[in-house]
Amino acid sequence: MVSSETYKGLLEYLQAHHEILPLAANSPSRCHSSSRPRVIITFDDGWRDTSEIAQPLAREYGIPITVFVCPGLAGKSSPFWPEQVTRAWRAASRTHEASNQFAKICRGSLLRKSFLPISCGHASLEELTISLKSLPASDRDEIVQALSRLRNVDEVAGTSPAFEATMNWEDAARLVREGAEIGSHTQHHEILPALAPEKVQCELAESKRAIEDRLGSRCLLFAYPNGSWSPSVREQVIAQGYSQAFVNSAGVWTADTDPWLIPRVNLWEGSLVGICGKFSPIVFQYIAFWRSFRAARRAL
Ligand SMILES: [Zn+2]
Repeated sequence: MVSSETYKGLLEYLQAHHEILPLAANSPSRCHSSSRPRVIITFDDGWRDTSEIAQPLAREYGIPITVFVCPGLAGKSSPFWPEQVTRAWRAASRTHEASNQFAKICRGSLLRKSFLPISCGHASLEELTISLKSLPASDRDEIVQALSRLRNVDEVAGTSPAFEATMNWEDAARLVREGAEIGSHTQHHEILPALAPEKVQCELAESKRAIEDRLGSRCLLFAYPNGSWSPSVREQVIAQGYSQAFVNSAGVWTADTDPWLIPRVNLWEGSLVGICGKFSPIVFQYIAFWRSFRAARRAL
């Protein structure tokens, strides 16, 4: 997550020192005249705060953005399983009884390990999330549902704030009217290499169709959930008619880059602020450009 203040600092800095391009129909060309580094700004998952905060600010600065959405999860509160686990963890950490129930569900599942929210810190929640990611989707969903059914989860969580809810189709349509691009991030945010080929096909085809039907324009852009891909998944992305697909690993997008494995740099608050807690160009440059440059050098 990135705070509004930090995001504003980033936009101001990018506008002053970079060329910010819209994603549609853009790919790097060898004969580029500008001496300023070119960047493209994308957001994954279609969070409501992307439509309520990120887009209005980007618009204020005249900066185009691209948003990758999951149509099957549009307009929901806490639709992504990691947030559901976080909500359940938060709720369970309030009483010993709930915490013990939480641990019992984890111990009795394929995880075979106790996670006790009341006495474990954030690192354990991260460990639990990583363990859940490694399970087949159906087993993972079963555990997440059991944890979400724990008493008090909704009471404690209350109504979801914008950073825990996804935008709806009206929000997406407004973004398009305002010049933003909408791409697919699968139908349900499944980690594709873990799925059977026919399920991968559904995730790719259904999301593309839903975006095209709802927004009335072609959907040619795709971002792999979690940045996870495999050669066969990449082939299916191409077969479904996507012209460009994005991963989550640092690198430089050049004319030689595979259009279905375009690198991106993931940014969060810690990757943008300095020791004074404000946006820091040096920290941003190190995370965004130095790491990308090193990755590009290694790839040669
Ligand atoms: Zn995602």
